[in-house]
Amino acid sequence: MTRIPLPLRQQVRERANNRCEYCRTPDQYSSNAFQIDHIIPIKRHGGSEGPHNMAWACPHCNRTKETDVGGYDEAGVLTPLFNPRTQLWGDHFYMDEAAIINGTSSIGQVTVRLLDLNSPLSVYVRLTLVGLKLW
Ligand SMILES: [Zn+2]
Repeated sequence: MTRIPLPLRQQVRERANNRCEYCRTPDQYSSNAFQIDHIIPIKRHGGSEGPHNMAWACPHCNRTKETDVGGYDEAGVLTPLFNPRTQLWGDHFYMDEAAIINGTSSIGQVTVRLLDLNSPLSVYVRLTLVGLKLW
């Protein structure tokens, strides 16, 4: 694992508005430290070490994404994962009143499934934060 200098970590965190760039969870309400995700993994897929290849990610999203860069959609088409540097979250997802994140594109649907964005714990945390008006 590459050690990322603190100023760069802070830059990535602030750019993400202190939220996971995949599930949108605010980092201040997580008991586990958020991490830098290399959107295109360096070793497996030749991604760069620069900030344009970095995303602020909660431990759940970073762990479930692992070294994936895409997956098969419902039609069996190989589809890239959501890229927070080149795409807008709202173009691929929305969160409903039950705190479920829905994919509105193939990219969104593949990302929801591969990153398990609607795990029971993730939904519970989102519902709780919405209920407390902290979302
Ligand atoms: Zn997340």
